[in-house]
Amino acid sequence: MNKFNDSSFREKAYSLRQQFWQNKVFLRGIVEFSNFCRQDCLYCGLRASNSILPRYRLDYDTIFNCSKAVKELGINTVVLQSGEDTSYDAKSFANLISKIKIELDLAITLSLGERTKEDYELFKKAGADRFLLKIETFCEKNYAFLRPNKTLKERLTCLENLRHLDYDLGSGIIAGLPNDTEKTLNISCEKLAALELDMISISPFTAHKDSPLAKHENFDANSTINIMALMRCLSPKAHIPVTSALSLHGEHIRLEALKYGNVIMPSLTPENFRTNYAIYDGKNDQVLSPVARAKDIEKSLITNGYVLGSGYGQAYRRLK
Ligand code: SAH
Ligand code: SF4
Repeated sequence: MNKFNDSSFREKAYSLRQQFWQNKVFLRGIVEFSNFCRQDCLYCGLRASNSILPRYRLDYDTIFNCSKAVKELGINTVVLQSGEDTSYDAKSFANLISKIKIELDLAITLSLGERTKEDYELFKKAGADRFLLKIETFCEKNYAFLRPNKTLKERLTCLENLRHLDYDLGSGIIAGLPNDTEKTLNISCEKLAALELDMISISPFTAHKDSPLAKHENFDANSTINIMALMRCLSPKAHIPVTSALSLHGEHIRLEALKYGNVIMPSLTPENFRTNYAIYDGKNDQVLSPVARAKDIEKSLITNGYVLGSGYGQAYRRLK
């Protein structure tokens, strides 16, 4: 199944996007700091069993310098994302968070997978503001199949731990995973809405050639936009990014998706590493340098009548 044909939400979704976010787009600079991962998700090229992938991890100074590049672009949020790489111990990572916070005054989003409640607490106290932890699929059985040795319950517990620590909370799904149907995707959207999230990410499944799902059909771009529109109707105030997997389909798709979504996350991962952040085929395959690409996106937004969101691009409930 690679389609979600119901586009009936688009008109309502567009008016809700205008009501809550007008024509603003919030940029977040993402630094993909390590592609080592202890998990083995069937859909992902970074999975531990992928022995072909050259691995990299950035040291703390390099991550700081990439965050500085985000700041220098005038972007006020950095997203620190990685595979589940426990070689970054919680204390040292918390020190990095404090340094970014104090010296660069950026909002910090973390997207580094499952950690203990204590680690999440240390990161929050050090100055992390937000966390993105996607549920991927709400079907318990499918979850256990796609994420070996992991359970949906554990993932939901992590999300609740983050909520209690007062993080701005982001989650989402991959659309078009094996066993997805229009019905399961509708249910996932309702469940995402019930979680009262600050940010909701819908990625189209995009195969990685060296993963067990290499031959599974990619999810269609217009169907992904239909789901984003449905999500805008169910959670009108949420930040909804146009994911990099969707942006792969070209600028016209990115602009169409922005009628319902309001966030873009250009990658500021150094050029010599970024193609190895190979979650799916084509990820970070751009010709332009990271900074030139971020500027290019900015230019295209302004040409198309969008305004860059100012401030930290906070969750709606935090806005005064
Ligand atoms: N390791 C962390 C964060 C990095 S992965 C974690 O898993 O939470 C970031 C996101 O990439 C995942 O949440 C998943 O939604 C997305 N992803 C992984 N493989 C994908 C694929 N084949 N197609 C589309 N999105 C994918
Ligand atoms: Fe690791 Fe995240 Fe990829 Fe799963 S989705 S293998 S946890 S990087």
